[in-house]
Parts: sequence; C-alpha cells; structure tokens
Amino acid sequence: MKYDYLVVGSGLYGAVFAREMTDAGKKVLVIDKRPNIAGNIYTEDIEGIHVHKYGAHIFHTNNKTVWDYVNRFAVFNRFTNSPVANYKGELFSLPFNMYTFNRMWGVVTPQEAEAKIEEQKKAAGITNPRNLEEQAISLVGTDIYEKLIKGYTEKQWGRPCTELPAFIIKRLPVRLTFDNNYFNALYQGIPIGGYTQMVANMLDGIEVRLGIDYLENKEELDKLADKVIYTGPIDAYFDYKLGPLQYRSVRFETEVLDISNFQGNAAVNYTDRETPWTRIIEHKWFEFGKDAQGNDLPKTVISREYSSEWKPGDEPYYPVNDAQNGALYLEYKKLGDAEKNVVFGGRLGEYKYYDMDAVIASALERAGEQR
Ligand code: UDP
Repeated sequence: MKYDYLVVGSGLYGAVFAREMTDAGKKVLVIDKRPNIAGNIYTEDIEGIHVHKYGAHIFHTNNKTVWDYVNRFAVFNRFTNSPVANYKGELFSLPFNMYTFNRMWGVVTPQEAEAKIEEQKKAAGITNPRNLEEQAISLVGTDIYEKLIKGYTEKQWGRPCTELPAFIIKRLPVRLTFDNNYFNALYQGIPIGGYTQMVANMLDGIEVRLGIDYLENKEELDKLADKVIYTGPIDAYFDYKLGPLQYRSVRFETEVLDISNFQGNAAVNYTDRETPWTRIIEHKWFEFGKDAQGNDLPKTVISREYSSEWKPGDEPYYPVNDAQNGALYLEYKKLGDAEKNVVFGGRLGEYKYYDMDAVIASALERAGEQR
C-alpha cells in the first residue's frame, strides 16, 4: 500500500482531515471528481471578484479552537452577514430584530415588539411546536412568518412548512435589539484571497489528484490505501441499495454586470412565493467591493439562486433532515459502520446540515481518533 489514507473529496472536511493526518506523519492522497479543489466552498476569480461558485459561504463560529485553526490558513476580513429580505418590494432587515419589527408593525421599543409577537403567538394557540410552521409562528408571530419565512422556506425546501423539521428555523436568531448580524457567533469573516486559496493552503504539500471519480474506480483506488475517508453522499457509496436519500439541489445563474453596484448588499432574500429564485448574491460585497489593493471594482457579479429537488446527475447541497430521511440515513449509517476501513464524514457523508465550523470540528475530532 502506497498511502495510509485515501481522502475522497477535497472539500473542507477532506482538506482538514488530510492536513491533520499528514501532520501526524501519515501518507495521504486526496482525490476529487471535480477539476478543482475545495468542494462547495470553491471560489472562482471573475473580474477580480471571488465568486462563491457553489453558494455563499460566510465563516462564523463560537469555537475558538476552530477559529484559531482556520486562521492558520487564511487571514479573515471583518465581513458581517446582514442579509436583506425583499418581500414584493418591501425591504426588511435580517435576522429578525428591532429594525424588522419596526418596519413590520411600526413598534419602537423592545417591549412593544415582544407584546406584538406574544399577541400573535397567542392568537395562533401554539404551545408545543411540532413543525417549522408552528416553530416559526411561536418565535416571531404570524405576520413575519407569512412575509419573511413561509414563501422562502417553501421555495428553499420544496415542501410545506408543516412538513419540515422545526430545527431549520432555529438557525435564525430573533433579537429584541438593533443588531443586524445574522449569526450569533463570536468570530466571523471571509478569507481574504478566497476560500479556494484557504483550502489550497490546507492541502499544501499533500498529493491531490483531480478529475477522479472514486465510485467509478473504487476497486483500484481502494488498493492504494489502508483507509478511506469518504466525504461524498453515503447513499451513493452503497449504490442507493436501500433507496435514495433526499437532498435539495441549487442552480445558480451567474451574471457579470457592467455596473458597480447592483443591490448594495451581499445577500438579498426574495421571501415571496412567486419570485422563482430564493436569493441573489452580489459577491463583491463579501470583500467590501474592493480589490486586493483597496481599489473599487468597476463591475459586479451576481448569482440568482434557484432551489430544486435533487435528482441523479445534480449536485447535492442540503440533506432533507425530516423523519423519513433520518430513518433511512440510520440504516445507511449501520452499513457505513460495518465498513471498518472507511470513515464517512462531512455534510454528504453524514447526511447532516453542517455549517463550516462544525465540519472542521468534526474532521479534527475524527482525525484525532485515528492517531
Ligand atoms: N429562512 C427564511 N427566510 C429567510 C432566510 C431563511 O424563512 O429570509 C429560513 C429557511 O427555512 C431556511 C432557514 O431559515 O432554510 C435557514 O436559513 P439559512 O440562511 O441558515 O440557510 P443557508 O444559508 O444554509 O441556506
């Protein structure tokens, strides 16, 4: 055997794992079926702008170990995520905060906002929220649910809010302050130079082979290493033999515009049901519209994001963590646990709606167990 580890997938999980095992003195080979590294955090330079090719990624964490870890591979800027919600031309601040409540109801004080939410919650009669709809109403009331959550969520997930798990909406903070920071995180930012450069730094000195499909060449590739770290979809690994897990896919329509400012913000969410896209990302604002020398960029690049149900041939992005898929995943996990020389990791390998920091924490933990 030439390698101790074959890492399948050069996304964040694979790159962190490969770095850790290499630093522990192991011989590691990383492969990826795409022609580039970095998985879904891949950024591509278009007109001097780091375009988030597979969807916007904003690094945020409360985990000091993870923050220190990523700072070894990139310098982070001070970007703070403050998306704007566009509901039929009315603009609201996100996450839900005093600016949102003021725009929605004209309330001025936290007490007035709280009373309004309480009143709507009471009228809806929800005591023990059982799904996303009930959870949302009990957090922010019916008006905000109807205008800012329902349409967006049903587009994003392709399912009624009554059939979605409550935890998805708990990702969004509700604040009785004027804080527009989308995340409750101590540390936040975008890697200067782009995510691809950050992952390249993680993989520095490690052998990487691109354009190789593991599942198509499994038998041969397995011979190369003692252990496999597999970060692709777990159901694909087992050739969908228990049936496919459901994922949401995303399609991006990216345009270069000959203007310097399209929407004045990195993310604008279209929260009505009728607009076919969920959000528009204007990539330059992740880096304040400046190039590396601090000059204003003359053009802009925008991506409209369309959500769809995953089908074979599409890129899987979001696991659909409802009860049915959860149960099927557990069956696949049993099969996975029986594969003694394979570690399944990351959003697709563990069928989990992981954020980047949690992926890193998980890869660090699994790598630690291997030593
Ligand atoms: N969400 C919403 N309205 C918004 C933004 C988010 O209702 O304007 C809900 C939606 O259900 C979404 C969830 O909150 O799936 C989590 O949003 P987040 O921005 O964390 O999703 P991601 O950035 O991972 O796609």
